[in-house]
Amino acid sequence: MAAKIIKGIDIREEILSDIRKEVQEIKAEYGLVPGLTTILVGDNPASLSYVTLKVETANSLGFKEVQDSQPTDISEEDLLSLIAKYNNDPTIHGILVQLPLPEHIDEKKVLYAIDPDKDVDGFHPINIGRLMLGGSEVKFPPCTPAGIQEMIIRAGVNTDGAEVVVVGRSNIVGKPIANMLLQKDPHANATVTVVHTHTKDLASHCRRADILIVAAGVPGLVSPEWIKPGACVIDVGVNRVGEKISEKTGKKVAVLRGDVDFEEARKIAGAITPVPGGVGPMTITMLMKNTLNSLKYRLGIMQA
Ligand code: NAP
Repeated sequence: MAAKIIKGIDIREEILSDIRKEVQEIKAEYGLVPGLTTILVGDNPASLSYVTLKVETANSLGFKEVQDSQPTDISEEDLLSLIAKYNNDPTIHGILVQLPLPEHIDEKKVLYAIDPDKDVDGFHPINIGRLMLGGSEVKFPPCTPAGIQEMIIRAGVNTDGAEVVVVGRSNIVGKPIANMLLQKDPHANATVTVVHTHTKDLASHCRRADILIVAAGVPGLVSPEWIKPGACVIDVGVNRVGEKISEKTGKKVAVLRGDVDFEEARKIAGAITPVPGGVGPMTITMLMKNTLNSLKYRLGIMQA
């Protein structure tokens, strides 16, 4: 039987519609809306397009959005002062610094300067520590892993006791999603294995996965024979493998491919995410959810 396709695009609309409704309710009751600032340094085209999408999404939800573009040669000191300004701004509940930053700026120093209570990306060590503790300690789960977990839940895939194999151990995807799925929680409780470039016999690990999460950044790394029949396959990889002319706009656009051979894998898997249109749309969605939650923590209508 052909696999169920888990469409991030559809799930995104459901979640955004819930957020939009809640923003209206909070505005009516407290006269406040979530405030998000997106700081972009330089003019990297990919970063600009990510930031534009975040700004548009925040505006469409009724957030206060402050897009702060800074020149490539901004000093580290000035960038840190800017973050301090937003840390102290009570109308801002989420601060996002678009990565990568220019080489003369210490990325770690900048991310660590963000108030952990406004760290809606969930990259601050305090929030990573809270994620590790799990349960009610979790305040801002990192957006891509949070999106992955949400997709698994909404696809009706049972994680309890499942064998989960995560390919990749990055701080933004592999490590946090592995940690989230091993928590003592009804939406987790999985047995998790994390594999990487030093793993012996990658295929044998993948073959026993009930849920296979692939975040390696290697197009087509996971071949169909590595997939257990009926498994849920979450392909996080977004790899630019060429260019084409868009039928919609007539402009040149990137051809994207995941880390999994989708067409072959869908014949074996029970459920699978496509690329594009799978995990990608979930990341910004969870950023919006974290920003709304930040305001709710501030108002005391949500606890962490
Ligand atoms: P990353 O920091 O480059 O980490 C890649 C991980 O995969 C590393 O742990 C690496 O192992 C492992 N790996 C690479 N090649 C491998 C191989 N041949 N066999 C086994 N393991 C291998 O990447 P990332 O930031 O996690 O991103 C991964 C992919 O997800 C990229 O395509 C990225 O564009 C995509 N992504 C998508 C979203 C989204 O919103 N959809 C968000 C974030 C990332 P080592 O540690 O041993 O080097």
